[in-house]
Amino acid sequence: MTSKVAITKVETILIAVPFRVPFKIASGGARPVGENVLVRLHTDQGIVGIGETQAWRRQGSIETFASLKCAIEDHLAPRVVGRSPFELAGIISSMDEALSPALYAKAAIIDALYDLQGKLLGVPVWQILGGKFRDTVGACAVLPIKDSLEETLEGADQFHRRGFRSFTVKVGVNPEAEVKLVAAVRNRFPAAILRVDANASMHFDGALALLKKLEPYELDAAEQMVPMWDLDGMAELARRVDIPIMADECVATVYDLLEVIKRRAATVMQTKVAKNGGIWHMRNLWTIARAAEMRIYPGNHPSTSVATAAVAHLAAAWPGPLLDGPFAVGISGAFARDVVQNPLVVENGAVRVPDGPGLGVTLDEEAIAAMRVDK
Ligand SMILES: [Mg+2]
Repeated sequence: MTSKVAITKVETILIAVPFRVPFKIASGGARPVGENVLVRLHTDQGIVGIGETQAWRRQGSIETFASLKCAIEDHLAPRVVGRSPFELAGIISSMDEALSPALYAKAAIIDALYDLQGKLLGVPVWQILGGKFRDTVGACAVLPIKDSLEETLEGADQFHRRGFRSFTVKVGVNPEAEVKLVAAVRNRFPAAILRVDANASMHFDGALALLKKLEPYELDAAEQMVPMWDLDGMAELARRVDIPIMADECVATVYDLLEVIKRRAATVMQTKVAKNGGIWHMRNLWTIARAAEMRIYPGNHPSTSVATAAVAHLAAAWPGPLLDGPFAVGISGAFARDVVQNPLVVENGAVRVPDGPGLGVTLDEEAIAAMRVDK
């Protein structure tokens, strides 16, 4: 019966999700809202699948609301409508022909296809991906750039009180102040896992000097310190600094990851639903990274519970180790509002894996109406 179901319509919903406080990282100015895009796949059986992506602009992504709407509705939807959600591989192949790589646009459709499959079969997405290997997925707290050290420490305190024990400190703007900040966070939380993330903003010399000064603070990883195109610079940092190097912006496709591995440019890899094209493509990256003995850091751009759930399901069904990643950054404190009736639960710094059919989250029409910008 389920193979007979046909997708009848691909609907995009553009929402401006308010940040609790403006979200500032080293590349680009502070953002007052997240520009997130929900996709609803309607079927002739009345079941609707949902997925999420984000309009994010920085190295490695050039997306706007308009670009995502155009890619999804004009170029990808014709490859999806009329087909069964169980033709996932065929739909992905057809979308690649239509628009390659367009991972940000495809992410929402692909995850909505998984959501649909789960809802039609009455099972959670983790079941489709191989079964549940873990009940909770560890998340880290992201500490965005603030005006003063005290403000950042206050933010870290709040996360610590909620049970977070992993922190990513955003750096890349003022190295002198950032050394003091990392020292202060380490001093306050001697047992915590600490990482820094420069969001591709530093030149090689600056990154080398900063990381050398950060070596005493037992950092678990330094994330994308230099531009995404400077893989040789990353490889040299990895050789010269006693802190593991993480690749984020420089890895969109599997081909990017192979290049990182060949050059030994990083030993940690971060994926994101939008950046990497949803569950299907993230799992390919995780498989290759694991084979290369890289550590896997599940991330996301600031997301609602929809994209957060996609990572939670993928992680739940992943049989190997995972780092506490920032995949819940939107729902764990960055966003002031969610779009679902049953937001994902973050307890003691971990996200509980949803058990309902599909992604296990249900859209809240009232919240969507309040945040929608394409009314
Ligand atoms: Mg990053």
